[in-house]
Amino acid sequence: MRAEIITVGDELLTGFTVNTNAAVLGQKLLEVGVGPCWVTVVSDNEEEISSAVRRSVERADVVIVTGGLGPTADDRTREGVAAGAGRKLELRSDLLGRMRERWRARGPEMPESNTRQAYIPQGAAAIENRVGTAPGFRMTCAGVDVFVIPGPPAEMRGMLEDAILPYLESRFPDRIRKYRTLHTIGWPESGIAQVLSERLPGSLQADEQWSLAYLPHAGSVDLRIGASGSPDQVNRTLRGVARRIRRILGPVVYGTDGQTLESVVGSLLRTKGLSVAVAESCTGGLISHLLTNVPGSSGYFDRAVVAYSNRTKTSVLGVNPGTLRAHGAVSEEVAVEMAWGVRRLAGTRIGLSATGIAGPGGGTKAKPVGLVYVGLSVGRRACGFRFRFPGGRELVKRRSARAALNVLRLYLLGGTLDGLEP
Ligand code: ATP
Ligand code: MG
Repeated sequence: MRAEIITVGDELLTGFTVNTNAAVLGQKLLEVGVGPCWVTVVSDNEEEISSAVRRSVERADVVIVTGGLGPTADDRTREGVAAGAGRKLELRSDLLGRMRERWRARGPEMPESNTRQAYIPQGAAAIENRVGTAPGFRMTCAGVDVFVIPGPPAEMRGMLEDAILPYLESRFPDRIRKYRTLHTIGWPESGIAQVLSERLPGSLQADEQWSLAYLPHAGSVDLRIGASGSPDQVNRTLRGVARRIRRILGPVVYGTDGQTLESVVGSLLRTKGLSVAVAESCTGGLISHLLTNVPGSSGYFDRAVVAYSNRTKTSVLGVNPGTLRAHGAVSEEVAVEMAWGVRRLAGTRIGLSATGIAGPGGGTKAKPVGLVYVGLSVGRRACGFRFRFPGGRELVKRRSARAALNVLRLYLLGGTLDGLEP
């Protein structure tokens, strides 16, 4: 099922209002298996609205129009949609009566200009508006379902959830489209695509049955698998494809459908009954912020030392001044000593650290901006890992914190420091 979303309003075209309705509609349609294929933005102009509706009815199976149902003369959606569908508007006295009642319940008499809102195209079914007063409507044009609802986001969302989504769910029970997302970390998009194209033959082209999209962000790549068919088929395809991809990528996949890296690390720590302390330099507390975003993290997170200065690295964490002099604060040796130091200080089984150059200044040829070391100390052993991240200061911090969490995750999965490849 292919949907078109038409949002109406001059303010959307000029950017004065951000088109959040389109985003909400896209997401919600996906959840009931209707694929949003086009988002059209048109001005409050009757001709433009009617031609957008005509075009959408030719190419989509479901059309949702929002905005421009207000009582004022500049709201032209009612007229535009009726013209596009080749229908006349008719006054629905039942709707007018209900609107008058709602106004009365709230206070003043309904202004006469609001009568406009009780006109809907002939043959259309009204959609009740729980939040505001303007009714919406649904009609069928050449087999295509066209829904028309007001623009204020709360009203749009209410009518979507009360009427449109349930209708669509019951209308297309055997032709749904669903998605599953696999979250990965550590490999670039192109590396993943290459491995999958070699080992998952014929699968990288979207076809009738399923598709795969690569969604990269901040050093991680989400793989969104889409599948179409009956609910049974869809579930089987999603499960099968996800299993194959997981088998190929191994621990590069850290979670599914919105799971966060920190929650995955948290449940591994909890299951294994281990606790962690963190020593942070360039991440400035971000690793511990992420870890403590997870409810129940007090069960495994002991403390963080934000050791930004060399003085604190030596006096609190016990980093050897000789190591700092010989290798500099941004070095594998110092990362290891930081992890070691905080583990000893806290008395936890695990110590995790990060030190690096977040930029934008402070880089050299030997130690450029984005160079980051992560240290991991477990019991009497410790090791360090080198990373080089692109991006501005905040991105480097975020990538460093996630890389540190990933080092910890890989250790927890494998149970050994040997052969860790974050
Ligand atoms: P009203 O009766 O309030 O005039 P309406 O159906 O005519 O309702 P619009 O006039 O198009 O709706 O928009 C009303 C308000 O809703 C706008 O000021 C804007 O803040 C918000 N709005 C409209 N469309 C969108 C959209 N696509 N995304 C986010 N907000 C929107
Ligand atoms: Mg309006």
